[in-house]
Amino acid sequence: MTHPSRRPLVVGNWKMHGSLESAHSLLDSLRDELQSSLAVVGVAVCAPFVHLPLCRELLTISGIHWGAQNVSQYPQGAYTGEISAGMLADLDCRYVLVGHSERRALYGESDEVVVTKIRQVLDGGMTPILCVGETLAERETNVTESVIARQLSAVLDAIPVSGLANIVVAYEPVWAIGTGKTASPEQAQAVHAFIRQLWASRQPAQAEALIVLYGGSVKADNARLLFAQPDVDGGLVGGAALDHTQFCAIVSAAEQTWNH
Ligand code: PEP
Repeated sequence: MTHPSRRPLVVGNWKMHGSLESAHSLLDSLRDELQSSLAVVGVAVCAPFVHLPLCRELLTISGIHWGAQNVSQYPQGAYTGEISAGMLADLDCRYVLVGHSERRALYGESDEVVVTKIRQVLDGGMTPILCVGETLAERETNVTESVIARQLSAVLDAIPVSGLANIVVAYEPVWAIGTGKTASPEQAQAVHAFIRQLWASRQPAQAEALIVLYGGSVKADNARLLFAQPDVDGGLVGGAALDHTQFCAIVSAAEQTWNH
């Protein structure tokens, strides 16, 4: 069970899926089906940019939050195709994913770029969800902790204490994302505890309240055991977030674990 000072959080990452029509119907279902869980569990969807106005239209006053999957590292300017933090704040986004492994691997986002994006999100008054995680090769060569330490330290070194207090961390082992392979609850717990200890070594006053989500093939049937781990405070959910039955079951697993 997660610590009483931390409210569980379940965030859907829709990636580049869906249409306006499918997004509308998914949001309608979530709004109808999640009401009773929201007193216990924070819920958000990170939708494609073009679906964010619809999220705002359908989710305002629902208690469900919305956010983006990426943001520009620059505040404004001649950056064709980019979206700024200010634009996301205008759409009342609460969260922005930063440093997702797909951004790091496919678009070459370095730790330095991740730090600049976190700054933009915090300056925009939103909450960054900082994604960290090791590849399979890194796990197999026993460098998981040093990889996570490098990814976290870049942020811990650069962001002021007040900003760090507003960050959510998502541990997402790259080998578990979209593969159907989930970290075992013990593997997840070990890395989550490491993340919290590392945060405590730098910001002792914040570590207990730090929300650390697990992401990587979370499904309705494995969520409960993952969320039952003491340092797992909820999930970042990709594929299963596109199916309202699966996603609601995952939120319900977080609720039951918390109430247990
Ligand atoms: C993700 O993209 O953040 C993710 C965890 O995906 P999936 O749940 O599909 O593994």
